[in-house]
Amino acid sequence: MAMKIDRNVCTACGDCEPECPTQAIMPFKGVYAIDPEKCTECEGESDNPKCLEVCMEDDCILPA
Ligand code: SF4
Ligand code: SF4
Repeated sequence: MAMKIDRNVCTACGDCEPECPTQAIMPFKGVYAIDPEKCTECEGESDNPKCLEVCMEDDCILPA
């Protein structure tokens, strides 16, 4: 499983990128995107996805 960023909601603030333990988040076409091959949903790292905890935008990061 992986999380996904809604590119229509993402403001490209970049706050989520350094929080990701698997370096799954990167700038992509003017906003940010999650590589589903790298995203572990923070399993073993955190009870909740770390990107979700820092993102200020509602419904921006969702289960893929
Ligand atoms: S859920 Fe965790 S592993 Fe997946 S993109 Fe967010 S911070 Fe990275
Ligand atoms: S924290 Fe949210 S709004 Fe900011 S870059 Fe990440 S997904 Fe986009």
